[in-house]
Amino acid sequence: MSTYMNDENKVVIVLALLLGIFVIAWLISVIRQAKAQHDAKRQERERKDTARRRYVSNRLKEYVLERDDETCQICGISKRLLDNYMDGLGDYLLLEIDHITPVASGGSGDDADNLQVLCWRCNRKKSGSKTNREVAADIDYGIRYLKKRRKLLK
Ligand SMILES: [Zn+2]
Repeated sequence: MSTYMNDENKVVIVLALLLGIFVIAWLISVIRQAKAQHDAKRQERERKDTARRRYVSNRLKEYVLERDDETCQICGISKRLLDNYMDGLGDYLLLEIDHITPVASGGSGDDADNLQVLCWRCNRKKSGSKTNREVAADIDYGIRYLKKRRKLLK
């Protein structure tokens, strides 16, 4: 009789252990899920916050365009240069407002000192946190090259 009871006790202990393991595994998965949801929400908040801080008002854009004389601060192409060549040609130049230090890297979103005019071409080249000097060393277009070409044509 006593050996039978011992076996029953063993079964109960094993079942209790299995239940314990199951409960712990379930708790771990619940905690992991909650943490993943929390992280996803935080990332979404940060993304929205960065997008909000990256916004440049039209007034500030106009100020920077005028300050930089509608001239790309890397390659030197400008509306004025194109218009001098042919009136209205400057309208084909797509100028953009660039954050010198990206907002995502801690740069100010609405401080004119952190904003500059770039042509679309240089702005694509500058992706990330390259400096103007690094981009300038990497391009084979812009005022310097246009001037060289004109000399070659003459
Ligand atoms: Zn440019």
